[in-house]
Amino acid sequence: MNLIGQKSSKTYSANLNIWHGENYELLDIDFKPNFNLNFLERRPFNMWRYRELIPIEKNSQIVSFEEGGTPLTKVNFLNGCSAYIKQEQLFQSGSYKDRGSSVLITKAKQLGIKHVVQDSSGNAGASIATYARKANIQCDIYVPADTSKSKTMQILAMGASIFSVQGNRKETAAQAFEAAKKSYYASHCFNPYFFHGTKTFAYEICEQLNWNAPDSIVLPAGNGTLIIGSFIGFKELFALGIISKIPKIIAVQSTNCDPINRLQQNPHFNLDLYEAQETIAEGIAIPNPIRAEDMLEAIKATFGEVICVTETEIILAWKEMSQQGFFIEPTSAACIAGLTQYLSGLDRTEVCVSLFSGSGLKSIEKITKILAM
Ligand SMILES: *Cc1c(COP(=O)(O)O)cnc(C)c1O
Repeated sequence: MNLIGQKSSKTYSANLNIWHGENYELLDIDFKPNFNLNFLERRPFNMWRYRELIPIEKNSQIVSFEEGGTPLTKVNFLNGCSAYIKQEQLFQSGSYKDRGSSVLITKAKQLGIKHVVQDSSGNAGASIATYARKANIQCDIYVPADTSKSKTMQILAMGASIFSVQGNRKETAAQAFEAAKKSYYASHCFNPYFFHGTKTFAYEICEQLNWNAPDSIVLPAGNGTLIIGSFIGFKELFALGIISKIPKIIAVQSTNCDPINRLQQNPHFNLDLYEAQETIAEGIAIPNPIRAEDMLEAIKATFGEVICVTETEIILAWKEMSQQGFFIEPTSAACIAGLTQYLSGLDRTEVCVSLFSGSGLKSIEKITKILAM
């Protein structure tokens, strides 16, 4: 198993303490898993049941809370459509990011790393801080100054240090990137191990559908950890002959921050100059995702599409879900708004899966505002 530079195709040993290639190029993991379904017998339903599919060589020092195995629940919507929703708000740290953190921090622990840096609009930071604490690794989290109080409190409670950056998500990432040059970047977008955790989302869906792939999957598009991770996961199951098709990947963005939508319409669109507007969906407010090309590839290769949702649609979706007893964060409601938009234009026989990405407890201030409307 090796790490491989995205552009240069230069390979690096996975035993090195690195998170980037030459000239800070993005790395992927060159990994051809050996796996069959008989391995799963009698293993508990959490993401580490797919042990052989996870690019971690040693069995010692796996950092896990037995995360994963979330319910896949059929939900009906007011527009008469229905879909399977994976309840990824039910995680140790309150978001699906724990899938990625478990693999990434396991790798860091096995490399003997004592200190990590991460930046986040909240949930990835809270998740990495949680796993770093379990692994006894010191952790610095960079957040934009306007990050939700519930998320910063959670990060502090997990013993991490917070560096509050005056500026937007892009400036926060730039400061963390500089700090990471002297440490290890536990980034959910830069570090390739994260995606080999989020890919277990795809495995679980197929297993819960009796090893069938759905027709389509509707996912939030911020930094693309689920989009890119799921695409890896489905491709692996397909290559292993376990599923017979790869679902269409439908990416949901906020109309106020839609870089992937813009790039898809115009490949020359310059993300560096893009000034997004504010959105209640703080978790997908990423104007300049560094793995934008990977996201576009996942959408294109699966004949998927990008859907944009307005602030009003997000709020209505949040209210509709709360009326059914689901307490989710507004970012998560954005994905559901995209889902209902997608389903309303469809033939009803399509098997479609989406998710609740984060818990409502993460975003108390924004939900207070919604309730006051
Ligand atoms: C991180 C996150 C997203 C967006 O996921 P990306 O990997 O950035 O595309 C959506 N919802 C919640 C709750 C999140 O924490």
